[in-house]
Amino acid sequence: MDYYQQILTRYWGFSGFRPLQEEVIFSVMAGNDTLALMPTGGGKSITFQVPALAKEGICVVVTPLISLMKEQVGRLKKMGIKACALYSGMSRSEIMINLDNCLYGDFKFLYVSPERTRTELFRSRFIKMKLSLLAVDEAHCISQWGYDFRPSYLNIAELREIQPDVPVLALTATATLDILDDIQEKLRFREKNVLRSSFERKNIVFRVIESADKLKMLGRIVQGIHGSGIIYVRSRKNARMLAEELERNRISATYYHAGLAHSERDIRQKNWTNGSVRVMIATNAFGMGIDKADVRFVLHYDIPDSVESYFQEAGRAGRDGEEAWALLLYNKNDKSKLERRLKTGFPDIEEVKKVYEALGNYLQIAVGGGKNQVYDFNIASFSSRFKMNMLMAYNSLKTIEREGYIELTEDVKNPSRVHFLARRDDLYRFQVENRSFDGFIKLILRSYTGLFTEYISISESFLARKGNISAEMVKEYLKRLSSMKIISYIPGKRTSFIIYNEERLDRKNLTISYERFVKRKEGFVLRQKKMWDYVETKSICRSLFLLEYFGEKDAVACGKCDICKAGNESGLSDSEFGIIKDEIREKLAERAYSAEDLVHALNHEDDKLLEVIRYLLDNEMIKYAGNNKLSWSGN
Ligand code: ADP
Repeated sequence: MDYYQQILTRYWGFSGFRPLQEEVIFSVMAGNDTLALMPTGGGKSITFQVPALAKEGICVVVTPLISLMKEQVGRLKKMGIKACALYSGMSRSEIMINLDNCLYGDFKFLYVSPERTRTELFRSRFIKMKLSLLAVDEAHCISQWGYDFRPSYLNIAELREIQPDVPVLALTATATLDILDDIQEKLRFREKNVLRSSFERKNIVFRVIESADKLKMLGRIVQGIHGSGIIYVRSRKNARMLAEELERNRISATYYHAGLAHSERDIRQKNWTNGSVRVMIATNAFGMGIDKADVRFVLHYDIPDSVESYFQEAGRAGRDGEEAWALLLYNKNDKSKLERRLKTGFPDIEEVKKVYEALGNYLQIAVGGGKNQVYDFNIASFSSRFKMNMLMAYNSLKTIEREGYIELTEDVKNPSRVHFLARRDDLYRFQVENRSFDGFIKLILRSYTGLFTEYISISESFLARKGNISAEMVKEYLKRLSSMKIISYIPGKRTSFIIYNEERLDRKNLTISYERFVKRKEGFVLRQKKMWDYVETKSICRSLFLLEYFGEKDAVACGKCDICKAGNESGLSDSEFGIIKDEIREKLAERAYSAEDLVHALNHEDDKLLEVIRYLLDNEMIKYAGNNKLSWSGN
């Protein structure tokens, strides 16, 4: 067994590497800058975690998703590997302790959110770290024109300058060819080096279904498939409405969106994950951390804004390798819905400026102040205070973020944390002198370890049960010990944050580049158009379409999607069917032809041509327009 395999088995207990993992590890270990393109769930984390364990020093992982960061740190710690994280919402002293541990405490992993990498505090420690590897997760966020640009990713290039000899490993699940180039350039790759695994999902059957009455069709589809599924919708109202409709049809269903309380969301997700509810109807707020292998179908009731999002969401089907369905329902009205989304997605610059001003007032930041400050933020209460449409407010903030002025973080649930400030002997003296605290201090020291070296997450209710006192009492003790500087106590809370990267400007001094705004809007339109092409195509295998979009050149038709099936029924090979059909469409776009004229005009065997014409007639894609002539009526 080679060395990396040994690490994999020793720490994770896995018997072997998945496709591409080993190649990426070899590349990184040879000191090469590497861009690894693997589908979600493909096992990206192993590709930096194994090299980090094989090498001396610490691996810094830049990642934007705080919840995933916390989950990974938790997992590593359980395996006995020293790891910690830095993200917005942590106190300065917590950050200092973690950074010191990274310098002097033989930590193997430091996870850091991109906006934290630009701070002086981070940089001053980073320069001294014995860095083994710089890993950049969700690396497509560095590309300005991609669908998820985050300006703070651009800072990562400066980290490279600070530690120029350490290789970078960039990871992404969704990137088109130009974005792959952009990532390597922005991360200052010494040499181009992309390793990719196939995105093909052989067990997924892709289908696009046109239906004037989507609701009715939905009921029929869900009744016809067994097992759990996800239905993606765009609006909260639809989420609820569809769940009610399915329930009326005796299909067990629940719904999920960002407007529900967190506790409610957690319960619903759990019920769906453990199978007590069969169908989850959700907006795209439902996604992160879905860990369910036996999802039998993912159905899109509305059309996503990009092929990237579609593929990621649809790809949640069939992780267990068994047959699963990726379905998309549409009708003609959907096109105008896409266009309307463009309008809310890109509010006018004047509108954006208004939101910027409102934000400063809401957070009570004086003009000229606020630089590098972190603020709690709740979009719902912000937009209701200023009577703004929430989506418009959100997209305006996103525009301001893309220009680099502010940074928005996801909603994070931070548990309460405690760190002992008093040294052990001082604490002992305190306990002797303050008898009333003695029992509580013992309780907490018996319940948790590591309290003297770092902030440890605690649970007030757990301590209350264990100590047989009320949770209120526990909090009271913690607050009092904190005010006496025996401990530092940070009560838990759930919130999202806004970070001001620049001081608050006067509204008239806020510049939003019109050129960039237009270019981004164009990018958005192009992505929507490509998505609409996917919906409308009648000639390219669905799987092929998706794989080609992600730059896979030698993919083959799946033979199972609606397009391939149409070809199969006609008795021709998929590609022949597609080619002949396209040629017929082109001809009929010029003028109407009789069947006989068509057969003469096109250079294929007569039988095959007649077969395709018959199929197209049966499926009402062509029709007789009088004089025995055919015209095109399909898509
Ligand atoms: P990604 O970041 O690509 O979405 P993860 O790194 O989270 O994927 O891995 C997805 C899942 O696959 C995790 O549960 C992980 O433990 C598992 N996994 C990764 N590599 C292997 C392997 N070689 N053998 C078995 N399971 C693996």
